[in-house]
Amino acid sequence: MSPPEICPHCGAEVPEGSRVCPECGADESTGWNEHATAQRLDLPDAEDFDAEAFAREEFGPPARRGPAWGWVAVAILLLGALLWWMIP
Ligand SMILES: [Zn+2]
Repeated sequence: MSPPEICPHCGAEVPEGSRVCPECGADESTGWNEHATAQRLDLPDAEDFDAEAFAREEFGPPARRGPAWGWVAVAILLLGALLWWMIP
């Protein structure tokens, strides 16, 4: 695994090909791990940022959504209760 360009430990620039951070001495086993590298890859590029894919990841696939009938029923019940309470 290649080291990140920026040390996730101290933020120093890590020269290409270097396996150890020149600033803090972090290396593959102590400093940068898969999480740090993945985080760097996760940053959405402004150029090919796919809003639709982002929404899918954030809110789940559209097929799983659909009308929330449970909430509709709750709203109707509340409305009915309110009417029943307001009309003597
Ligand atoms: Zn460092």
